[in-house]
Amino acid sequence: MIGISKLYCGTVEPSDALRYGRKSSELPSHLLQFSKDKRPVVVWNITRRCNLKCIHCYAQAKDQVFDNELTTDEGKNLIDDLSQYKVPVLLLSGGEPTIRKDLPELAAYAIEKGMRAVISTNGTLITQEMARVLKDIGLSYVGISLDGMEKIHDRFRGVKGAYRAALEGIKNCQKSRIYLTFLKIWIFQGHVFITLSMPAAGQNSWKKI
Ligand code: SF4
Repeated sequence: MIGISKLYCGTVEPSDALRYGRKSSELPSHLLQFSKDKRPVVVWNITRRCNLKCIHCYAQAKDQVFDNELTTDEGKNLIDDLSQYKVPVLLLSGGEPTIRKDLPELAAYAIEKGMRAVISTNGTLITQEMARVLKDIGLSYVGISLDGMEKIHDRFRGVKGAYRAALEGIKNCQKSRIYLTFLKIWIFQGHVFITLSMPAAGQNSWKKI
């Protein structure tokens, strides 16, 4: 698999292998596919619960408690296993991962065990306080996706106000200087448009592809 950002921006160059080496534990996340040891990035859907109702939901998420999910201790056991296997990056997703109160604890534990922790979120629940906590524990980055402008996004997400809430979450991450990727995909008159923006932490400039 080759990321679209690499194809369009040339973000991967031969010199990268010299600069970073080929060990997955030393490579930045976007270069992991070029590692020699081929350790996998693991995605853990820490909950099926979600506050949105996307028409494209891949997880059949609902805003309800699911009683068969891993507890905090069971999650830490899982992280121990992943750490022994030398997994370089743990992506915490869902459902909506920020719904789980123990998200910072689990992410911090993964970091303590030598992994980079990242989250994939709809962004709507990231308050200033949560963004500060995530920054303080050393989260590598937060990924938030938008499906289009406000009307389209809210229609796809099944909840009015989801777009504005996501933008608020993005702003809070920026204020706390968390690295952020922001992916927007939309289809217009038979053409697919993709915008990948990667603002430097704490800045308002967006790199558009
Ligand atoms: S935000 Fe994600 S988990 Fe929640 S309903 Fe949408 S696609 Fe499903």
